[in-house]
Amino acid sequence: MAEHMDPEEFRRAGHAVVDWIADYWRTLDQRPVTTQDPPGTVTAALPTTPPTHGEPVAAMLADLDGIVVPRLTHWQHPGFFGYFPANTSGPSVLADLVSSGLGTQGMLWATSPAATELETVVLDWLADLMDLPATFRSTGPGGGVIQDSASSATLVATLAALHRASGGRWREVGVDRRYRAYTSAHGHSSIEKAARIAGLGGQGVRTVEVDPQTQAMRPAALRAAIVADLAAGEVPAIVVATIGTTSTTAVDPLPEIGAICAEYGVWLHVDAAYAGAAAICPELRWSHAGVEHADSYCFDPHKWLLTGFDCDAFWVADRGELIEALTVMPEFLRNAASESGAVIDYRDWQVPLGRRFRALKLWFVLRWYGVEGLRAHLRSGIALADGFATRVRADDRFALAAPHPFSLVTFRLRAGDEASAALLARVNDSGQVHLTHTRVNGRYTLRLAVGSPLTRPEHVDRAWDLLSAAATDILAGD
Ligand SMILES: *Cc1c(COP(=O)(O)O)cnc(C)c1O
Repeated sequence: MAEHMDPEEFRRAGHAVVDWIADYWRTLDQRPVTTQDPPGTVTAALPTTPPTHGEPVAAMLADLDGIVVPRLTHWQHPGFFGYFPANTSGPSVLADLVSSGLGTQGMLWATSPAATELETVVLDWLADLMDLPATFRSTGPGGGVIQDSASSATLVATLAALHRASGGRWREVGVDRRYRAYTSAHGHSSIEKAARIAGLGGQGVRTVEVDPQTQAMRPAALRAAIVADLAAGEVPAIVVATIGTTSTTAVDPLPEIGAICAEYGVWLHVDAAYAGAAAICPELRWSHAGVEHADSYCFDPHKWLLTGFDCDAFWVADRGELIEALTVMPEFLRNAASESGAVIDYRDWQVPLGRRFRALKLWFVLRWYGVEGLRAHLRSGIALADGFATRVRADDRFALAAPHPFSLVTFRLRAGDEASAALLARVNDSGQVHLTHTRVNGRYTLRLAVGSPLTRPEHVDRAWDLLSAAATDILAGD
């Protein structure tokens, strides 16, 4: 007979777990950012079968320390500069704990009214804060919803776009014509994945050329691709433009792209996964010029806005199209509130039915930091990145690869791809920092993305010192 954890035991174990997390954060700087252990190390350290009889939480914490944590990549580490940040924060973790403790399902308004209403209010707050179009507010024709990830947001946008492009037929008959999606050469891989899942196939995605200086989509090339597809009898369904591409944080020109989408009746989805947070700072709103053309827009508070994964904020300008595309009403979900039409049922805004109470962590984060606290976090990352870029620019062994409007700097060694790749391997081997790479104009390029709340000037200085010393060795042939 299993013993459940009673509330008093939970209280004791819970305090120990919170202490454990606080200690982890406090000592992060002393750990290597990544593990050097070979694949299979963790597997070999774990038993091959689960325990027959229950164990205390203390045993799990001991194995976290002994087995798990030494083989993690520490994304919250102040020396983590890879990919994009996926930062979390105290208020976010606490809210997630509350969400887990409540264990509520918010698939319908009726299944947990406060979960739906809080989500609507928090996304309206955020839309105000970012000065997003009035159509995106729940008080207008559109509205916001939390998705698990930007990938899901793009998938849902693609499905709504197919609904529109097919005049509603897609819902009943599936993909019966050659629908096309368009994104720049630096559009995220999730766009092709969404197209495959939606039945367009990888070949249904048109890759639009970028400007070699800015790395942003060339509107003339987009127009040419749409015109050519129309002439061939194909159906342009969706354009995915990016604010802050993953490679270099390029900003696609939304005013021009939006005008082309309007002209040809194509759905415009804006993927601002990382850089969307910047719109919270008035001085960075230029990056969102033209966003009023978007049929849908998303960004990830789980990247740069101190809200733990998973939390993607997704808005549509017209919720009717999205809901029509996705709604299915089985008898077992029928209820008076849904039938009244007076409530939002977020199950119709996403792929799964069930949904966690994720609005709580956004609510806690917005309230703990306040608008000015969030702006200070974003501005500190931008200032640190800018300081780093200044060092790169001043050193003639290095070259910046693209503009750096946010907190990502892309750069390389002038000596070439091989030297740049060796540089990345060498600094990452130090265990003190972690950077990743991309290709820009075909050339191997390092990326340094600032975003951890623990990252201070000395951590960026350390990254530069390691890079500079490693460059000296590599260029000397050592
Ligand atoms: C990170 C990123 C994504 C994917 O984000 P998920 O939320 O992990 O799905 C999509 N687009 C861009 C531009 C990104 O930077």
